[in-house]
Amino acid sequence: MLQLGNWQFESVVNGTIRLDGGAMFGVVPKVLWSKSQNIDLKNRILLATRTLIARHLPTGRIVLVDTGTGSKWSDEEAERYGVESTPEAIDKALSAMDASASDVTDVIATHLHFDHCGGMVDWEDAAGGSVRVRFANAKHWVHREHFNHACAPTLRDRASFLSVDFEWMGRDERAQFVEGISPTSDLADLKFELSHGHTPYQLLPVFDLGGGAELFFVGDMAPTGAHILPAWVMAYDLFPLKSVDERVALVNRCKEHDTIIAFPHDVRRGIVRLDVTGKKPKVGEVLCP
Ligand SMILES: [Zn+2]
Repeated sequence: MLQLGNWQFESVVNGTIRLDGGAMFGVVPKVLWSKSQNIDLKNRILLATRTLIARHLPTGRIVLVDTGTGSKWSDEEAERYGVESTPEAIDKALSAMDASASDVTDVIATHLHFDHCGGMVDWEDAAGGSVRVRFANAKHWVHREHFNHACAPTLRDRASFLSVDFEWMGRDERAQFVEGISPTSDLADLKFELSHGHTPYQLLPVFDLGGGAELFFVGDMAPTGAHILPAWVMAYDLFPLKSVDERVALVNRCKEHDTIIAFPHDVRRGIVRLDVTGKKPKVGEVLCP
């Protein structure tokens, strides 16, 4: 567990998925990206799905950022994306903090792709039936415009959304819709920023660590350490040039501020500092594996 400012952090691997390596690196040739990746016979690379747990010490709030693929997968569906889900890893990490699922006060869904929000709900009884909210006492934050997009995705990105994961938010008072282009947060020492390159209105939390330092959960703006290079943009991104600009801004931010980065998909590195001293940015110190 990492303690920084008013916060304790843990980056929890709640499962793994395998996605097409070419899609994960867009126009970057395989001879370049394959050096650093674990590739299977179907050309898929291994990705972790991570939950960031953040406990705010002054208030006791427990915030989860993203919840992974969750428990609702049939064997056949799981095979397509190589989904291996271990949602109990979140409970285990909470337990190490002397907490449980019912103590979670806030769940932030950066966006509603199935590998980020599938763990918000489980099947209530049988598969295919109704769902129950897993962190029953928590407010669940998502940006309104992203929710609207997820409910009516494009032909290009609709495979990334499983409506069973999030449609409950439209009728449940535990859903909290963040509004506008400069959203504010009523959570102490936490603010929201937006990213639009990967998907519209991705909601990214920035934790204030005091003294100008911050921890930035970068979501799928930069899913792994390999994606810190601004041009290594995923083919999944709807607006790739915007993704490039957002990554350049991220690197500049790390040059100008004491910014720590939390990744959603890196297999080995959950929370890091970037090394931005050289010509190309790279992952520096690993604070949480
Ligand atoms: Zn995504």
